[in-house]
Amino acid sequence: KSKEKSGTYHHFFRSEMSDRNLENIFLENALYKALENEELCIHYQPQIDSRTNSIIGAEALLRWNHPTRGMVSPINFIPTAEETGLIVPIGKWVLLNACKQLKVWHAQGNSHMTVSVNLSGRQFEEDDLLSMIESILVETGIPPECLHIELTENQIFKNTYVTLEKMREIKMLGVKISLDDFGTGYSSLGYLKNFPIDTLKIDRSFMFDILTDKDNAAITSTIITLAQNLDLDVIAEGVETKEQLDFLMARSCFNIQGYYFSKPLDAKALDEFMNQISNNNRF
Ligand code: C2E
Ligand code: MG
Ligand code: MG
Ligand code: MG
Repeated sequence: KSKEKSGTYHHFFRSEMSDRNLENIFLENALYKALENEELCIHYQPQIDSRTNSIIGAEALLRWNHPTRGMVSPINFIPTAEETGLIVPIGKWVLLNACKQLKVWHAQGNSHMTVSVNLSGRQFEEDDLLSMIESILVETGIPPECLHIELTENQIFKNTYVTLEKMREIKMLGVKISLDDFGTGYSSLGYLKNFPIDTLKIDRSFMFDILTDKDNAAITSTIITLAQNLDLDVIAEGVETKEQLDFLMARSCFNIQGYYFSKPLDAKALDEFMNQISNNNRF
């Protein structure tokens, strides 16, 4: 009888649950195992100085190679990882492994190369964020200024005071901070004055139709000028075509990330990419 009861109970909740919730429960369980089972990996997208076609750095982008579902995009599992808090151990794993990989690239002679790692606002709620970053810098021995932390405006403004304080502490370690997806957030520009930010990363949505869409062209030009006037670095993401590249270079934006140069690659493929560009065999 009790079995029947729990069956009814179960059924009740199932019918009340949205597919999205069920999907979340599936994801949560599978994601929990993903870290243990080593199903996560990191791809790296090169960031290029378009004046010399040389590599300046790479952005670490998380990938989940699920045994039956194949490669799962981060946009499909990061939100669940954030809701459940799993982003905390996963984010630490990404940071550690990206820094270890950078150490290898430095040892191979790419000694000025940087690595950019996306941090979730959820990670800024952890008391030990600073000591976590510090111990990874010590363990891997990379120069702190070669680590760039990427944050979005919206992540900062969810919990401004705490996040700002932690950003300052991270900066004191020597680590750099980039504002990701810049131009898409809900914030005012005034904060750029007070926040410890090194780089504006122009969101890739503004690259769309940049030669014919007057608004996207104006926004992109304005962000570049803003960065120049505030003495910040600027990098464009989502650059896919020569025309977009020319538009950016004509406005003195030379740091480029996008499919025009390369999609995100696994570490081995990025080695090959670096060999090709250093031999001038690619662009
Ligand atoms: P993001 O940080 O803005 O990363 C850039 C995204 O744009 C990447 O998507 C990249 O593959 C894509 N992209 C770059 N160039 C081009 C281009 O020319 N054309 C097009 N169509 N796309 C381009 P991806 O790898 O799917 O990552 C999506 C988002 O997931 C990231 O956006 C970031 O917000 C999040 N993410 C990825 N890895 C991590 C991580 O380790 N931790 C956290 N918290 N979030 C992550
Ligand atoms: Mg990013
Ligand atoms: Mg971005
Ligand atoms: Mg994004």
